[in-house]
Amino acid sequence: MYTFENKRYLSPAVLDQLLIHNKLDNYTSILGYSVENRPILLSSFGSGKRKVLLWSQMHGNESTTTRALVQLFSDLVLKNSSLLDDLSIKVIYQLNPDGSDKYSRLNANGVDLNRDAVKKSQPESKLLIKLFNVFKPHFCINLHDQRSIYAAGNTDLPAIISFLAPSFDKSKSINEVRARAMYMIGKLYKTIKSDKTLPVGRYNDDFNINCFGDFFTSQNTPTILIEAGHNPKDFGRNLVVAEVYKCLLNFLKLFAYENNIKPLTDVYLSIPKNYDHLRDLEIINVKCSNGLSNRLFIQFYEYLKKDKIYFVPKIESEIPKKLYGNRIIDYSKFTNKSIDLEQNNHKILEKLKLFLDFSLFLE
Ligand SMILES: [Zn+2]
Repeated sequence: MYTFENKRYLSPAVLDQLLIHNKLDNYTSILGYSVENRPILLSSFGSGKRKVLLWSQMHGNESTTTRALVQLFSDLVLKNSSLLDDLSIKVIYQLNPDGSDKYSRLNANGVDLNRDAVKKSQPESKLLIKLFNVFKPHFCINLHDQRSIYAAGNTDLPAIISFLAPSFDKSKSINEVRARAMYMIGKLYKTIKSDKTLPVGRYNDDFNINCFGDFFTSQNTPTILIEAGHNPKDFGRNLVVAEVYKCLLNFLKLFAYENNIKPLTDVYLSIPKNYDHLRDLEIINVKCSNGLSNRLFIQFYEYLKKDKIYFVPKIESEIPKKLYGNRIIDYSKFTNKSIDLEQNNHKILEKLKLFLDFSLFLE
């Protein structure tokens, strides 16, 4: 069990403090209440003609984009940015406060809110749909975190950010609405890729009308899904907060001042697809009892205990296809002792821990 000074646990209590500290509370009201009666906060900025709706943490354990939202809007307010006058912006920082409190993807009823767009069985989903119907945004931004298993293309490079212009039908057709989302993503992608060291991915566009992005696209509102990704030397996800911040700021500038949001798809379709073939660690040259050397893949799983996130290593038991490690560790540099790989994974892990300090890899 390992932890580190991280900000990935962003509870409703922490969000409250952040909003007050950043003077965003003046712009914030209560949109409604969650299953466990926690307030769902909504900030409203500006009264311009072009309207954008952004929401984050519909999955409670995905807080990176929430951090970017708070930083961005506190800066815009502080600078008295004209963007706030030229646009109408609605921001839900945390659609799932109960899940955020428990550091859980699901809401308090165990429902994945991003599969509830049609059923609307949960109070949180109802509130998002109601806001969408009343506010009538011209664009939606759906914000998430992406696990560290996703590469940008068929490579060993973890995506720092991934984008999706969601489908609105099974055949993944491209109409004008979806193409406008693709055009905006293409513009955002180009600005990120001016730094060639940052791998960017394109998320799977399989259609699921129960997902809010697909549903809102089907309602003729262009929607962009942004996934905050991973850097192997930044489990606290501070680097990606900065990238999401820039990305959202660029979006707002484009949306406010671009005269013609064209239905263009070429740049979007050139973004490398996400491949889910990465694992946090690849341990090579593991000396086995039979004298041969082998390799192991390890993935860290997060859990919350007393307001701290701990990362627990687990061995990948089945390796179905080609996998790559986000970090490669040479076992032979740590010890020349051998391990019986015929044991169960738990025992192998206990043995590994005698030689390897996993906290070293959670910088
Ligand atoms: Zn998510």
